Amino acid sequence: MEPLTYTPMMQQYLAVKAEVPDAFLFFRLGDFYEMFFEDAIQASRELELTLTGREGGLEERIPMCGVPYHSAENYISRLIEKGYKVAICEQMEDPATAKGMVRREIVRIVTPGTLMDGKLLNERANNYIACAVEVGDRYGFAAGDLSTGELHVTWLDSSADRLADELTAFQPAELLAHGPMLERLAALPMVASVPRTDWNKRDDEFVRGHFAAGDLDRLDPAARDAVVLLMTYLKETQKRSLAHMTEIRFYETDQFMTMDPFTRRNLELTETVREQTKKGSLYWLLDKTETAMGGRLLRRWIEKPLFSLGRIEERLEAVDKLVGRLIEREELRLVLREVYDLERLVGRISYGSASGRDLAALRRSLEQMPAFRAACLATGSETLRRLAENLDECADVLSWIQAAIVEDPPLSVKEGGIIRDGYHEHLDRLKTASREGKTWIAGLERQERERTGIKSLKVGYNKVFGYYIEITRAHLASLPEGLYERKQTLANAERYITPELKEKEALILEAEEKMFGLEYELFCELRDRIGGEIRRLQKLAEAVASVDVLQSFAAVSAANRFVRPVVTDGYNLVVEGGRHPVVEAVMGDASFIANGTRLVRDDTHVLLITGPNMAGKSTYMRQVAVLSILAQIGCFVPAERAELPLIDRIFTRIGAADDLIGGQSTFMVEMMDIRVMTEKATERSLVIIDELGRGTSTGEGMAIAQAVIEFLHDRIGCKTLVSTHFHELAHLEESLARLRNACMAVKESGQEVTFLRKLIPGAASTSYGIYCARIAGLPDSIIERSYTLLNVFETKGAEEQAAVLEAAPALADKRPAAAGREAERAEPSRTDDVSVPAESPNALGESEPAEPRADAANAPAEPPRASDASVPAEPTLPDGSAEAGAVQLSLFAEPPAEPSPSRKADAKLQQLADRLRTADLINMTPLAAMNFLYELKQKLGEADAKAGR
Ligand code: ADP
Repeated sequence: MEPLTYTPMMQQYLAVKAEVPDAFLFFRLGDFYEMFFEDAIQASRELELTLTGREGGLEERIPMCGVPYHSAENYISRLIEKGYKVAICEQMEDPATAKGMVRREIVRIVTPGTLMDGKLLNERANNYIACAVEVGDRYGFAAGDLSTGELHVTWLDSSADRLADELTAFQPAELLAHGPMLERLAALPMVASVPRTDWNKRDDEFVRGHFAAGDLDRLDPAARDAVVLLMTYLKETQKRSLAHMTEIRFYETDQFMTMDPFTRRNLELTETVREQTKKGSLYWLLDKTETAMGGRLLRRWIEKPLFSLGRIEERLEAVDKLVGRLIEREELRLVLREVYDLERLVGRISYGSASGRDLAALRRSLEQMPAFRAACLATGSETLRRLAENLDECADVLSWIQAAIVEDPPLSVKEGGIIRDGYHEHLDRLKTASREGKTWIAGLERQERERTGIKSLKVGYNKVFGYYIEITRAHLASLPEGLYERKQTLANAERYITPELKEKEALILEAEEKMFGLEYELFCELRDRIGGEIRRLQKLAEAVASVDVLQSFAAVSAANRFVRPVVTDGYNLVVEGGRHPVVEAVMGDASFIANGTRLVRDDTHVLLITGPNMAGKSTYMRQVAVLSILAQIGCFVPAERAELPLIDRIFTRIGAADDLIGGQSTFMVEMMDIRVMTEKATERSLVIIDELGRGTSTGEGMAIAQAVIEFLHDRIGCKTLVSTHFHELAHLEESLARLRNACMAVKESGQEVTFLRKLIPGAASTSYGIYCARIAGLPDSIIERSYTLLNVFETKGAEEQAAVLEAAPALADKRPAAAGREAERAEPSRTDDVSVPAESPNALGESEPAEPRADAANAPAEPPRASDASVPAEPTLPDGSAEAGAVQLSLFAEPPAEPSPSRKADAKLQQLADRLRTADLINMTPLAAMNFLYELKQKLGEADAKAGR
C-alpha cells in the first residue's frame, strides 16, 4: 500500500509555514484565512474560535480554524496585542483562472513593532521597534517607526543602564537582539514584557542601497549594525517599499538630558506612577497640541529634554512671542486644526496602502500651508520666521492632487469615483460612454411607458441579470405580444430585456470595468509620484509638528502663569515662587503654595529637607526637577522668576514601598540606583533623593544616607535635594560647607496640625509620631513614657554617632570637632532656627526673609522641648498666622479620650508602651497609623478592664 502523504494543498501550507515558525500563519483559502495544526489549536484558544478539522491526506484530520477575510483585521489586532506575530499568506492568482494549485505567498508579517494602521496604533504615540547590538566595546541602538518613517540611531557605552535609559525614552513595542544582548534585554525590568525577537539576519547590500550613498557608512560601526539588522527585519517582514524610512536620524546621547527609567517614572513625565494614565502626567498638562504628529513630537521632546543652550533658546524665543500674541496664536491653532496626520499619511503613501481619502486628507493639509506660513510670520518670532522662510509648502504635490482627485473620494480605491473629470482624456471618454448609456437607460423608462401605456413600467438593474424592464402582473395583459424578450418571472411581475438594452448594458459595463481599472492605475501612478516626494513631505510634517508643540507650550504657559526661564551654562539654580505644575493643576481651585529654591555654587549644593510625612517634601523636590525639564524642552516654567542651569542628568531616588520591580527588594533597588548615581553624576547633574536609607535598620540607613550625602557633597558637587526622616542628619549642616537644612513649616493649634507647605530654613526635629499618639487620646502615661524613651534614644544615638564619627573621619573638608557638635545635637529641639531671619538670599531663593520666619519671631522665645512631653519641638507658626490656602489636616475629628486615671505602670501597659516605642510611625500611612492607634486603644481598654479600672 502507498504510504499516506499530505494533500498538495497541505504540502503547500507546510512549505509556507516553515518560513514563519514564530508567527501565526493566516493562510488564504477563498473567503477565509485558515490556520492549521498547532496554530489552529492556539488561535482557537486565544481568539475563542471554533476548532474544527480538515482532511489533509493522512488518517487523522488536521486541526483547523479560520476567520473571514473581511473581518481578519480585528483578529490580527487581537493577536498582535497579545504580543504575537501574524503572517498573512494570500492567493497570488485568481483561483478561477489558475492552472493547477493556486500560488500562495506571504505578503506581510504583522508584528507589534511594525503596525501601519488599525486600532492598535495610538494616534498620539509613536510605535517603535528597537534593535540593540554589541560591537566591540559599544552598543548600537536603533529605533524605527514604520508608520511615520522615523529612524533614530545612536551608539552607547557598553552598559545595560544606558541601554535602559534609551529604551525607556522610546518605549518600543518590539525588540530585536541576539545572543547575550537578547538576554540582557530580557533582564531589564522596564522591557521585560515587550515582545522580543532573536534576530541576527543582515542584508548589508540591501540596507546600504536603501539609504543615500554613504549615509550608512558614515555611522559608527555599532550604530550601523543596529540599522542593518533593523532594516533587514523590516524588509523581511514587510516585503514592500520602505521608501519613507530613508533618513537616518543619528543623535549623540549627550545632546540630550539623561534620565534613567526610575526618574522618568517618578517624575511622571508621560504617565502617572499609580494608575499609569496619561492624566496627571506632565505630558497631559502640556498637551494642547492640535495635530496628532504634534502630540507625538511633544512626547518625544518630553522624553528627551535638550542639553544645548542654542536650541533651547530657539524654542523659548518662539514660545515667548506666542505667549504674548494671543490673536496670532489663535490663528495658528485654527490652521493647525485643519492639518491631518501628515507623517502617517505619507507613511501609507510610500507603503502603498494610502486610499483616495488619504490623498484628499493630504490635499486639505497642504492647502493650509500658505496660511500656516503666514501665521508663523505674524507671530514676530525669529525662530518661526526662519522656519517659515525655509518651509517647502509642497505646492506641486498639492496641485497634482487637486487636479486628479475628486473632492470627496470613496473609501475603496477599486470601484472608481476617485479621479476628477478632465484629468485624463481616455478616462473621460469612458466616463461619457457610461454616463450616456445610463442616461439612455433612464430615458428608456419614460419612452417605454409612453409606448405601452403602462404607467408602472420600471427599468431596473441587478447583478445577475443586468438591466431589465419590469411589468407587474396586473398589466401583463396590455403588453403587446413579442415586444420584449422574457428574462425572469417573479411572484407578481415579469422582467424583460430588449436587444438594444443589452447592447447598451454591455457598453456601460465594459466602460465601467475599463474605467475602474484605469482610475486605479491613475490613482496608483499619482500615489507613486507623491511617494517620490516623501522626504520633502516629511520635512514639512516635522516643521508643522514642531510649531504645534511650541504653540502648545505657549498656550499652557499663558493659562498657568508660567514665566520664561533664564537658562544658563553656569551652576546656579535660583527659583523664586516655584510651583509643581501638575500638582497645582490637579489641585484645581485649592491654592498651591509656591516655594523658592536656591542652589548656588560654593554656597548651597545640597539641601537636606526634614519634616513629617505629607508635609510636601517630595512634591517640592520633584518640582525642582520638573522645572529643569520644562526649561530644557523649551517651555516656560511655573515660577515668579527662574534662573536654571543646563542639567546633564537628573537622578531621582524615591524610596517608596511600591518600587518592587523584578523581584528585587526595595532596598537593593535603591542601592543599585545610588551606585549608578555615584558613578554617573557630574557637577551639572541634579540629584533627588526622597527618604534615603529607608529600607534597612535605622542605624544602617542613617549611616548610608550620611555617607552618600557626603560623597555627593565632597566628590561630585552636583545639585542635590535630599529628604529624610532621619532628622538626626541635620547636624551635617555644620560639617558640610555647602549643605543647608530646610524643612516644611507646620502649624499646630489645639488638636489640629496644619501643613503650611512652606519650605523654611532649619531642620525638623521630630516626626510627629508621639504627637499623633497624644492627640489620638493615648493615656498620658504612655505619652510621657514615649517622650522619655525618645529622649534616651536620641541622646544615646548621638553619643554613638559621635563615637563612630570620631573613629572614622569622613571626607568633609570643613568639620568642627564632632564631640562639640554632638553635644549640641543632644538638644532635642532646633525650633530656634525658625526665628533667625536670613540676611542674604537663603537656600530657598528668597531675598526677603520668608514669611513664616518673620512670623516666627513672635513665637515663644523658648518653645517647649520634646522632653517636656507637651508639644513636639518643630519649627512652627503661632496660631492665627495661617497662610492663605494652607491645607488643614485635621488628624482626628473627635476630642481626645480622657487620660487614664491610673498612674501605676503595670506589665500590660509596659508591653503597649514597648509596641509603641518600636513602631515605625514615620513609615506608616495615616490609615495604618490610625489602625495601629485604634488597636493600642483597644488593648489598653482590655488592660483597664482586667485591672478593674
Ligand atoms: P511628603 O513627601 O512630605 O510626604 P508630599 O510631597 O507627598 O509630602 O505631599 C503630600 C500632599 O501635599 C501632596 O499630595 C499634595 O496634594 C500636597 N502638597 C504638597 N506640596 C504642596 C504645596 N506646595 N502646596 C499645596 N499642596 C501641596
